[in-house]
Amino acid sequence: MVDFVKICDKWQKKWDKFNFFESKLDLKKKKYFLLAMFPYPSANGLHMGHARNYIICDVMARYKRMNGFNVLHPMGFDSFGLPAENAAIKEGIHPKKYTENSIKNFIKQQKSLGLSYDWSRSFATHKKEYYKWDQWIFLQFLKNDLAYRKKALVNYCPKCSTVLANEQVIQGKCWRHSDVNVEIKELEQWFFMTTKYAPELLRDIEKLDWPKTVKDMQRNWINESEGTLVNFRLKDSNETIQIFTTRPDTLFGVTFITFAPEHPKVMELVKGTEYESEVKKFVKKILIDEKYDREKNKEGMFIGKYAVNPITNEEVPIYIANFILLEYGTGIVMAVPAHDQRDYEFAKKYGIRIKQVIEGDIKCRAYEGEGKLINSGKFNGMDSLNAIDEITNYLEKNNLGKKTKQYKLRDWLISRQRYWGCPIPVIYCNKCGIVPVPEKDLPVALPEKVNFKKGNPLKTNKKFVNVKCPKCNSKARRETDTMDTFVDSSWYLMRYCDSKNNEKLFDKNRINYWMPVDLYIGGREHSTGHLIYFRFFTKAFRDLGLLDFDEPALKLYTQGDVNKNGIRMSKSKGNIVDPMDIIKEYGADSLRFYLMFVSSPDSVLEWDDSGIKSVCNLINKVYSMRKIKYESSQKDRIVQSKINSLIEKVTLNIENFEYSKALIEIMDFVNYLNKNGSLVSRDVFDDAYIKLLTMLNPFIPHITSELGCKKEWPKVDKKLINREVEFSEEFYDKIMLDIHEIIKLTKITPSRMKLFVSDSWKYDIFRKLKEESSRDISFLVKKYMIKEHSRELVSIINSVIKNPKKIPEVILSQEKEYRIINDNKSLIEKEFNAKVEVIKGNNEKAYPGKIAIILE
Ligand SMILES: [Zn+2]
Ligand SMILES: [Zn+2]
Repeated sequence: MVDFVKICDKWQKKWDKFNFFESKLDLKKKKYFLLAMFPYPSANGLHMGHARNYIICDVMARYKRMNGFNVLHPMGFDSFGLPAENAAIKEGIHPKKYTENSIKNFIKQQKSLGLSYDWSRSFATHKKEYYKWDQWIFLQFLKNDLAYRKKALVNYCPKCSTVLANEQVIQGKCWRHSDVNVEIKELEQWFFMTTKYAPELLRDIEKLDWPKTVKDMQRNWINESEGTLVNFRLKDSNETIQIFTTRPDTLFGVTFITFAPEHPKVMELVKGTEYESEVKKFVKKILIDEKYDREKNKEGMFIGKYAVNPITNEEVPIYIANFILLEYGTGIVMAVPAHDQRDYEFAKKYGIRIKQVIEGDIKCRAYEGEGKLINSGKFNGMDSLNAIDEITNYLEKNNLGKKTKQYKLRDWLISRQRYWGCPIPVIYCNKCGIVPVPEKDLPVALPEKVNFKKGNPLKTNKKFVNVKCPKCNSKARRETDTMDTFVDSSWYLMRYCDSKNNEKLFDKNRINYWMPVDLYIGGREHSTGHLIYFRFFTKAFRDLGLLDFDEPALKLYTQGDVNKNGIRMSKSKGNIVDPMDIIKEYGADSLRFYLMFVSSPDSVLEWDDSGIKSVCNLINKVYSMRKIKYESSQKDRIVQSKINSLIEKVTLNIENFEYSKALIEIMDFVNYLNKNGSLVSRDVFDDAYIKLLTMLNPFIPHITSELGCKKEWPKVDKKLINREVEFSEEFYDKIMLDIHEIIKLTKITPSRMKLFVSDSWKYDIFRKLKEESSRDISFLVKKYMIKEHSRELVSIINSVIKNPKKIPEVILSQEKEYRIINDNKSLIEKEFNAKVEVIKGNNEKAYPGKIAIILE
């Protein structure tokens, strides 16, 4: 066996020394920008899922480079985030140290996979040079009304005296204090106005070459619905609340109002009333204790307030209920128990009035269909579909509501009460209010010396908090919230285009040359998070004049999971295979080949320990083929044809992400050349071998480089492709295989054998069926009927429609097939030590490409 590990090491050192894959702006060259989602550098290092993801991307990067593209293939680190902070709290390691050690380890591991990154463009988001620009973007958003502050609910641990992330709440308790119940607190928080772009985000999904599942998830997430916004006045107040409904025709039947429990208005309404403490308890129960199954039992409570129905002037009580979601409409629902089943059940449970306004049976359940309006004043007798428009018109005329489109997509809450993130660049002054940090004062640096023991480390850091107001110079207070780390990842791909720029976010020419990303590879789990946020950023940047395109990534490819023993590899399941262990034993090329070979990149890969060893043998075969001795030039024509067919197929396979198909084709040829290499002249062999190595280069770059592959992707010479020549040989090989098979099965040692070539009419019918688009058997039988062969014809059509592979790729003629066998008759006789007779036709079991065999 060759020492693969040593070869990999040699080439990695070489690539590293010269930053071999550095890319430069070159307007004359066609660019190709591809990247795998950048990782969170965890202390565990990269796992098999990462490795697969990066290699899928790397194969394409190398392939595109070989095809003359100016390829940008960078890597960076999404290095702010909770795990580092948790480690700081639990183990006392500073997040910066934790993170930077992890990054070092990650880079080492990525290099050992032989990934062709342009390392000169690398960055990490926890560095000032990067997050300065997060802050700059925030200020631009603030200036342009894309960032604003409002109240929202958060999880709070009284013992830690800090806000908890959702991941830090475990079954209603604090992750650090399993005896402490998490509370719900209302805080002023920062939001980005993603909803401003909801219509465009929805519309432009059409433009994207993304997996259908991801596009559908985004459509559902944004979820546009047409309806009416109805204004309900609050009793004893001038304030109105707006309620979205798709059924304004039932407005006369509203008997109560329901708020989502976390709606910010709820706390405002009950403040200082006898209901306050009960409501707080209920909200906490729903949001923390029953977070994941809040709709299981319909539950709610009256909050002591009433609203006024704008069309009937009736007073209706206000409830909160667990099944009302903040994401729906305005987070408030006008309840019509007679015509909505959920409201019906709720009303029955809490004894609320049910008022029917559309004809239909409501004895046992709500009537949700259409019908004539009743109990609806001047709209009585009107058809409910018409009433939708008529009542909306009435509301519009009287300033009581309007027709509208609503989106489920909410504005993005970016405030995090965490330390290990990018500080929000805002100062609070008693006189001036919210004051943005002046751009010249950026970055607002994250202080390193902080206390992780109690509360929010930024809040307890006086040096950080206490500042002078930039406007009036009096005492002021710095914002202590940091940004959601998804802010960092919303524009990181753009930073790669100009990663060293300290003057600007990025240079417009550079961004317009490299972006949008041509191919983005990552996990489906980001469909409704990162993959929406980065689209929002791109559109906002466009409107800020920073760039000239609408979408960040034209093509998205989502890779499948890596499983072992049928379940996804994970630490908790104890079924991890560490890619580094594999590399150390078998070399990076073996791992790369294996991961790309055993399943297509988008489907689940089932890890098999023995598979890696057989992959090693395959690669070894490629390696040792150099030593072939030349005996004749008998197979020159076939090999020339085969290698050119192969280039054609493999090119197509890679373009379509059918990497495993490509490798299967390549290995078929390796086996062929290995067997027949001695029957090929030296020039033809060398040419085919080099082309073979070159095509293998994106998959196993180290060994193919060692063996002298070319830098350019091989071109197809169509003149040399002769499928008939290739097929004739395959036809003969198959006959030999079939005879061996039959002898094995029947255990006959034949002294004579009869070989039947198919009837001549069948070649004709096969050729026609090959071109046929219809799959309708009775239609085809009629169309191709030959009276004298009707029975056989029906059976041929039947079996070919069921299994189209029964038609060979190349259909020869009866004469050619006969000749191939007859020319090789003596070889066959010698092989089996039996007399051979070749016969044309007269056997029902013979088909084009498949002879019938009788042993005697
Ligand atoms: Zn706690
Ligand atoms: Zn001030």
